Amino acid sequence: LKELYPEDILNNAKELTDGEVKFLKQLDDLLESKYRDSINDHWANATVPEEFFDDMGKLNYFRNPLLFEGREGAKTPSQLFQFFMSYTIARFDVSLVTLLGVHQGLGHNAFLFGGSKEQIAKYIPKLQSHELRTCFALTEPDHGSDVAGGLETTAKFDGENWIINGAKKWIGGANVSDVIPLFAVDVDTGKPKGFIIRPEQDGVDIDVIENKIALRIIPNTNIRLDNVIVKEEDRLQNINSFKDIAKILYSTRAGVSYMATGAMAGALRATLDYVTQRKQFGKEISKYQLIQEKLAMMQGNLAHAISMSAQLARMQENGEYDEVATSTAKMMNALRLRESVAMGRGITGGNGILAEYDIARFFSDAEAVYTYEGTHEINALVIGRALTGDSAFI
Ligand code: FAD
Repeated sequence: LKELYPEDILNNAKELTDGEVKFLKQLDDLLESKYRDSINDHWANATVPEEFFDDMGKLNYFRNPLLFEGREGAKTPSQLFQFFMSYTIARFDVSLVTLLGVHQGLGHNAFLFGGSKEQIAKYIPKLQSHELRTCFALTEPDHGSDVAGGLETTAKFDGENWIINGAKKWIGGANVSDVIPLFAVDVDTGKPKGFIIRPEQDGVDIDVIENKIALRIIPNTNIRLDNVIVKEEDRLQNINSFKDIAKILYSTRAGVSYMATGAMAGALRATLDYVTQRKQFGKEISKYQLIQEKLAMMQGNLAHAISMSAQLARMQENGEYDEVATSTAKMMNALRLRESVAMGRGITGGNGILAEYDIARFFSDAEAVYTYEGTHEINALVIGRALTGDSAFI
């Protein structure tokens, strides 16, 4: 464990089972051996490593027997394991963990929480084995933070089918998905509903957003919907209010706090690698006191974040999904990430702004983590509402 997670100074990983540690070591080895040499080029060129999804499918992280050793009767891998899995991938690259997160988190849970029994039986096994790929289409060009009340994409039932019109923005991986859970307002009831859309359907137009300065590896997309016809059997039967959508978002907000934590670890690693190589004034810059203070701050931020994430995972394992705890973890871990990557970027000097050095990638990607799954301000408003009893969402 010390070899796999030397930065976990408060020993949160100690509670992982031997099988889980073995799995995480395999995952880390795969990332390092197969993708280390090309990851910065993928980031610079905005390309996805083609085999990544197949490789993740082969690891079979939902049903790998290693994950169930000592957990007889459990149906899913432990939450603490899921935190360390996200952490381990994010420590390597934040786009890859985001791409996986929209598939196995938001997208998968849209089917799991929103689907009927038949829809769950039809889609979940194929999503878990990666035979089908998915994403999550909620945000719109004019509605991000206020999407709950602001959805403009419409669904009209004509007695036989649903007709969908509107537009979505930022949707991660829609262009490489087989099935897209997409949310629209039912014009007759005014309530949001969920629909399963396929990219090749008539009236669906998807294009990739160019020139992002963060998460360049993941394709984020615009989707336009022009009189798209959806059968009732492709309506997610258990999405009938924004509360139903919020339940999905909620389950993955914790996941983003895990990703932020892993990204902090990646930034620390990249910075440590640099300071032990780089010489100025005749010796490695790691030997200077002012550098060591910043490294210590990065390690301190990370220790906080690992402990907060691990405790959130333990709560979720016990079925305690707490809105304030989740928003606090997302808000604070993303904030600390932003602080840590800035310190790492500073320590790496001019080279720290070049794509060929890992720190530049973590520095840029932190900006997306700061914004998605509830911006800093929106999570602060969730916490503020609980503290004061006053909702300041206006
Ligand atoms: P806005 O809502 O326009 O906010 C702008 C600023 O105003 C922010 O600082 C915000 O905090 C602040 N603000 C807004 N309201 C208030 C208020 N009441 N009080 C104080 N401050 C306020 N969405 C999907 O559906 N699927 C995806 O796969 C997906 N992937 C994404 C990937 C990336 C890289 C990014 C950047 C976004 C992604 N999103 C996705 C969308 C994401 O969830 C939104 O960007 C986010 O909700 C913020 O919305 P916005 O960008 O429209 O910002």
